[in-house]
Amino acid sequence: MKKNLTLNRGASPFKFAISFTISLFILISFSLTYANADDGKIHPWGYEGGTGPDHWGEIEKDHEKHLMCREGVNQSPVDISHVPGVMLDDLGCHYLKAPIRIMNNTHTIHLSYDPGSFANWGNEKFELIQFHFHRHSEHLVNGKPYPMEMHLVHKTPGHQYVVIGIFMKEGKHNPEIQKIWNRIPKEINKEFSYENELIDLANLLPQNHEYFHYNGSLTTPPCSENVSWFLLETPIEISEAQIKYFEKFIDHNARPVQKLNHRIIVKIK
Ligand SMILES: [Zn+2]
Repeated sequence: MKKNLTLNRGASPFKFAISFTISLFILISFSLTYANADDGKIHPWGYEGGTGPDHWGEIEKDHEKHLMCREGVNQSPVDISHVPGVMLDDLGCHYLKAPIRIMNNTHTIHLSYDPGSFANWGNEKFELIQFHFHRHSEHLVNGKPYPMEMHLVHKTPGHQYVVIGIFMKEGKHNPEIQKIWNRIPKEINKEFSYENELIDLANLLPQNHEYFHYNGSLTTPPCSENVSWFLLETPIEISEAQIKYFEKFIDHNARPVQKLNHRIIVKIK
């Protein structure tokens, strides 16, 4: 910078133009370097290496918030094992058909959901706002992952989240998943809407809604500990080819399991 100022003083218009061009070049190079810190992705966190889960707490932007990823004691995901059965309310899912609104945000394939769909637990009601997918599953069951996990994210009036997790095991071709996979955009960070193509989430829920429940966090930065988790015990099926197709876009996006600490996971009896 100092050098450029010196050049400017008493310099010819030609020299000034060179100086300006060099400054601009340095500025652009710096911006590109910053963006490339995450393999060209816009968000500065990922799942591997220097921007992976072990480093989420050190991310320089929004440092305060991301500290929860490192220092939180009620983090997600967790391993679900040795779970006691207790008396709990049933989990109800009342989802309307809604148009596909889909985005590849480089961390997941994300679908925004139109208002009007909700889950209920006892007298509480939570509005579904989006759902997305993880490869492999983030939660483990008795130490083992499923090939994929779907997260249905609901918001409560008190700014808490309720996430219903649905495990996906390898098996039959899943036509409802195929409707979504057919529309995964090649362009990243841009939402595409298909008003005449409706998702019927009822087709993506298992018949049995028995669940595991615990309180935890978002599984991505800022890792806020304001999530009530419901994980359906029964997985749905997806074919090997469909898993492979998802991997073409997102090959791995599962945060490792976190310590349970003083929490207990319960299972509906
Ligand atoms: Zn998720």
